[in-house]
Amino acid sequence: MTLLTILEFPDPRLRTVATPIESVNDEVRALVEQMFATMYDARGIGLAATQVDIHQRLLVMDVSEDGDEPLVFINPEIVQRDGHKINEEGCLSVPGQYAKVERSAEVRVRALNQQGEAFEMDLEGLAAVCIQHEMDHLEGKLFVDYLSPLKRERLVKKLQKARLSNDAE
Ligand code: ZN
Repeated sequence: MTLLTILEFPDPRLRTVATPIESVNDEVRALVEQMFATMYDARGIGLAATQVDIHQRLLVMDVSEDGDEPLVFINPEIVQRDGHKINEEGCLSVPGQYAKVERSAEVRVRALNQQGEAFEMDLEGLAAVCIQHEMDHLEGKLFVDYLSPLKRERLVKKLQKARLSNDAE
């Protein structure tokens, strides 16, 4: 299966706000399969369509240890939130960089599945962090946006340095 190219910060296309999917058809299902293949290949736990330059409201996740619990969320909405928690986050679009971000501890999400059927799911722990992070991508938002200007600048410098040393190899 052809893997999709993951956009990397500060690519301006990551700032695009995604539009709702009107019909969950075979094209969408094929995209879901490609997104899973791309996410597992990159050893990620979540991937939003925005990150592969497709600006539709779709994300895939798998926070299981063995990578055998794929979850698909089409047109996701958070309908309930509870508590706060600070977690260290990373992102396939900001490779190798991690920072602490505050999120809701528990969320209830309403979405469509691959068959176009509506469902609701309660998420907590890593799954709650992951879906909030991925849903931000659909709004054109990245985890680095939550950092103070100083911390963000440091992270950007580290990222640039890592890229330069990768290019030199
Ligand atoms: Zn991300």
